[in-house]
Amino acid sequence: MSVKHRPIVRSFKRKYMKEAAAHVRAGGHAILWESETRALLVFQDPPDDKADDFGAWAVYDMGKFRWQTHARGTLKGLASTLIPRDCLWIAKRRTERDSIHPGPTREMNVDCTDCAACCRDNEVILQPADTRRFADAGRPELAKPPFAKRHKDGRLVLTLLANGRCQHLKRDNKCGIYELRPHPCSEFPMGSECCLFAREDILGIYDGVQPAIELS
Ligand code: SF4
Ligand code: SF4
Repeated sequence: MSVKHRPIVRSFKRKYMKEAAAHVRAGGHAILWESETRALLVFQDPPDDKADDFGAWAVYDMGKFRWQTHARGTLKGLASTLIPRDCLWIAKRRTERDSIHPGPTREMNVDCTDCAACCRDNEVILQPADTRRFADAGRPELAKPPFAKRHKDGRLVLTLLANGRCQHLKRDNKCGIYELRPHPCSEFPMGSECCLFAREDILGIYDGVQPAIELS
């Protein structure tokens, strides 16, 4: 069991930008609504080594990989990214989930051994470093069928079983190649938005209010 301090997500209208900035500086995440169909996700600027940064992973969870750091103005020093229109429901869902939590951050207990939600219905893209590590360990087959397949666009991904489980996930919910597991697995941070979404989507575990809106 690990204890994680995660950001609480709050919605703010644009005229409350100062309050949004204060919430983010205190450790939270802000959804800053410029109109009903345009919103920014505001978070603390991730450090250079952003492997387990909750802000960066809140962006990845929306299928984006870029953000800007504000050099001046109310958001000076903070990072933001425009939320894709088809992800606005995600922003609404995060604020709905966190509406019962006071303050800008929250302490939560997470136990991966009880969970393994992120090892199901996922897409683990293998990096060149992963295939090299497999080969160096005498397991080059891990980067080939039936364990992995290459998409037409060139991505090499782990293949899943018909029931959506990763082939390497054992019955006891432990990873069968833990020492060699791919980078996306070892970097996936407990308590991040990606983790919270996997737990909701796969296991129906909610760290807050259950969804009133239909997911996706
Ligand atoms: S979804 Fe989160 S808690 Fe569950 S196994 Fe993955 S990182 Fe651990
Ligand atoms: S390789 Fe291991 S950690 Fe990665 S998804 Fe599969 S079971 Fe989970």
